[in-house]
Amino acid sequence: MRGKTKAKTRPATPSLPLCRPSRTIAVRFHFSSPLLFFFPRWVSGVTLGRHVFFRRPLSQVSSRLVRHELIHVCQYGQYGFYGFLWFYLWRERKLSYRYKRFELEAFEHQDEDGYRERRWPHLRLELPAEIKGWELKT
Ligand SMILES: [Zn+2]
Repeated sequence: MRGKTKAKTRPATPSLPLCRPSRTIAVRFHFSSPLLFFFPRWVSGVTLGRHVFFRRPLSQVSSRLVRHELIHVCQYGQYGFYGFLWFYLWRERKLSYRYKRFELEAFEHQDEDGYRERRWPHLRLELPAEIKGWELKT
């Protein structure tokens, strides 16, 4: 080691990736889910990570609700499973349901075509076969 010639300038800052690596999330839908028994009657869907639980059977679930819940799936993808729940259940525990950040975003964009693809270009959702091509219908 040649101490006298040690560089005094800091090494160049490594460049940061522009976005996270692409990945595919295999979404799973659970219709007529008994999980909803534990939620108030007005709750018609609950998302936990890549699993979406619906109170009603497939034939009675609106595509709007599906799009709403798929935004939550992407939010989980962005913040991580525990990160999402931490924000939702703890950090924003004093906010009512409709004012939580994740709900504000989901309600605002649930009818917007292509929102998920623009907001999370690195996340690709793999939808269950029975719902493919159906979710964009209104
Ligand atoms: Zn929601």
